[in-house]
Parts: sequence; C-alpha cells; structure tokens
Amino acid sequence: PVVTRFAPSPTGYLHIGGARTALFNWLYARGRGGKFLLRIEDTDRARSTPEATAAILKGLTWLGLDWDGDAISQFERAGRHAEVAQAMLAAGHAYKCFATQDEIAAFREAAKAAGTSTLYRSPWRDAAPDSHPDAPHVVRLKVPRDGETVIHDQVQGDVTWRNDQLDDMVLLRSDGTPTYMLAVVVDDHDMGVTHVIRGDDHLANAARQMQIYHAMGWAVPVWAHIPLIHGPDGKKLSKRHGALGVEEYQAMGYPAAAMRNYLARLGWSHGDDEFFTDEQAKEWFGFDGIGKSPARFDFKKLDNLSGQHFAVAEDAALLHELEQFLEATDAAPLTPAQKDRLARAMPHLKSGTRNFPQLIEKAHFVLSERPFIPDEKAAKLLDNVSRGILAELTPHLQNASWTRDALEEAVAKVAEAHDLKLGKLAQPLRAALAGRTVSPSVFDMMIVIGRDETLARIADTKP
Ligand code: GLU
Repeated sequence: PVVTRFAPSPTGYLHIGGARTALFNWLYARGRGGKFLLRIEDTDRARSTPEATAAILKGLTWLGLDWDGDAISQFERAGRHAEVAQAMLAAGHAYKCFATQDEIAAFREAAKAAGTSTLYRSPWRDAAPDSHPDAPHVVRLKVPRDGETVIHDQVQGDVTWRNDQLDDMVLLRSDGTPTYMLAVVVDDHDMGVTHVIRGDDHLANAARQMQIYHAMGWAVPVWAHIPLIHGPDGKKLSKRHGALGVEEYQAMGYPAAAMRNYLARLGWSHGDDEFFTDEQAKEWFGFDGIGKSPARFDFKKLDNLSGQHFAVAEDAALLHELEQFLEATDAAPLTPAQKDRLARAMPHLKSGTRNFPQLIEKAHFVLSERPFIPDEKAAKLLDNVSRGILAELTPHLQNASWTRDALEEAVAKVAEAHDLKLGKLAQPLRAALAGRTVSPSVFDMMIVIGRDETLARIADTKP
C-alpha cells in the first residue's frame, strides 16, 4: 500500500510551494487507496513555533488536504532517533568522532591553503574503540569511500554521486540530539513511508539519506523531487509573484477546490486538461505528468479556473463556503434571512464570478435591506428622468404574472413608450433594485426578491 507524507518545518506559514507539495502527496495517496501522513519537523527548536504549526494545520484543513491519523512531532521522537544511531554504532556503521570544532576548522584552513579537498576526514573513523577518550563527541556515519550512490528519482531520472565526495555526516550531535538527516530517515522508515514527494532542493539530501537506509538495511522509498515554483517572469517566486501563505488565498476569496485544481497544475499536467475535479485529479495524478522545469505561478490562470469552479459548484456548497469565508475574514456572519435569500439568488450569482468578494458584491441586492443607498455609479443612473420612468413601471408590475417572460414584457412596454432600448431602462432599474451597477439581471433579481419588495424598491426612488 502507498504511504506518502508531508513534512513541513514549522518556521512560518504554509506557503504556496509547501501547499503544492502537500497536494501532490495527497493526490498520489488518495488516488491509490493509500495513506497520507503529516509530520511536523520541529527539531529546530529555535525556529519552530506552535503558531506556525497551527497555521500549517489550518492551511491544510482549508485546502481540504486531510491527513491520516495524528500529526507526528519529529522532536518528540528524538529518543528513537538516538536509538537508531546507537544501533549503527554497535553494528560498526557509525563511529564516535572526538574532533573539536577548532580541529575541524583548522583542517579546512589547511586543505584550502593546500588546494586539496575540504571534505572533512575524521581521524576517528578507524580508531580502535578502546582508544576513545571520555570526552564529548558526535556520532558520524561511516560512509563508504568507494563506489557510487544512485538516486532513481521519478522526476529527475537517475542522479549519481561519487561516494568519495560525500563526507561522514553527523548523526548525533555532542549533546546527543539527532541531526535532521537522521531524523527524516528514521521517521520515514518508522511511518512506513513508501513514496517521498518533495521539492528538488532536497535532492542532494536524498543521496545522504540513502547512506543511512543502506547502513540500517532498510527499504529505500520511491523518491520524486519536484521542481520549485517560479514567478511568471521565470525568476524565483517572491511575494510580488504570489509567494504568499495559503491563508492569503483564502482571504482573497478563492474556493478551496479552485485552489487545489490550480496547484495541481503547477508542475503537473494531464494532456490539455486544465479544469478538473478532485476525483479526476486523484485518478490521473502520477509521476509521468510532472515536468522537469520549474512551474510558473500565474494569477490569471488561477482566476480563470476559479471562475469555472464557481460556475459548476453546487449552490448549497457555495453558500457553505461563503459562510466559512466570512468567518475566516472576520466579517459578520449571515443572518437567517440573508441566508435564505442568498440560497434563492445563488443560481444567478455564480457565472462570471471568480472569488467570494465578487459574489458578495453581486449579492448586495439580497444581503442589504431597504432603503437601498446606491453607490456612486448607481446614483448617477438614478437621475430625475429615470426615476420618473421607473415610477411608470409600477402599474405594469402590479398586474404582471411574476414570470421572467411577463416581467420582460412589462419592462419592454415602458421602454418602448419612451423610445428607449430595453437596456437603457434596465440600467436605472438595476440601480434601484440593487443599489449597484453590478448584479444579476434585473429579471432574475425581481424573481428572487418578489413583487412586494420590487415595488417597494422602485417606490423608494420616487422623484
Ligand atoms: N522539512 C523539510 C522542509 O520543510 C521537508 C523534508 C522532507 O520532505 O524530507 O523543507
């Protein structure tokens, strides 16, 4: 069975690159009936914060990337990491190194001056165990000096390192704490991780981690190192490009499904498919669709996909997500009456909408109560002439049956009487009904709010 994991370091918010890594792991596991695990790599005590962990969990939750079981704290597993280092010592795959920082620095200086390799070679590698002083030491892995280490990467292909270019990495520091390299391997092994999908900035680490797997005789996971995300200009992603925390995309009002769709397309493709559902993504996602060059972040594409997600979303689901959006942005919650009217308006609000603030703007006609205070643009449309013409609509609307056809006919009649195109009358009518110039069609609005409310709003504009 497939087991993947997302292993963020809790030193900041969940940024877009991390979210994409999490999504790829989630898709890979969920599409294969596997497990998706979460490990918080909080061993760097100075930089890890509980706030960052909370932000990461919140971001993943918003994105809908559910993980199996509880999130695992790497720091809490330090005892187990040390145990594995001791096992490697006992088996002769690791050794105690008593070299001091000063000695190592002096070695490097001398190597630099002599123009030889600065790769540290500890004299303790081959020292007899009984020659060990009772002094502080680190534990180093005895990396083979000959041969090669090959990573069969699912994205990068085979990547080869000469073993004589690898140093004997530290496994345990002199205070007995494990290094990151040891912790990652022990945790991935113990968690039963079968596939590691992560940024290609970790590719060189894979070669070193491989040495630990070999020393322990453990099965090596399948590795897929994915290219990083760049800005639209091809440069490293920066804030200006959209390198924001996922909560900022939530605050901009993108639906989580649109975000998942967009992130999936950042560095992965399935033919010409741009817009797809989670079910399709789970079914289609695999390593062969991952590109070798960095993906480019593009707000236009995100907007476009988001619009498509709004258009097809279920009304009830959208309403629910809108409520979550209001909560996340500390806006006032919907009243039961607003919810009711919104539910009826939703079919008319979806098309052409790309984010929740736009939806809210369009929904002004059901979210606000009379009397409507028109915004500046709407006020301009409600000059005295238009107000007079609107008043003439009243008797027609009083008698019309409340269907779209009948309403169109009634409005057309009055427009004709004034030699106006229908649209010319619809503009001030929209301003009267919505107090805005952006809204669903006037007929849709009238049907949603009903006869009494329509007449009352028109009456409010009496010259
Ligand atoms: N904690 C590492 C990071 O945040 C990820 C390590 C891994 O995936 O192996 O970059």
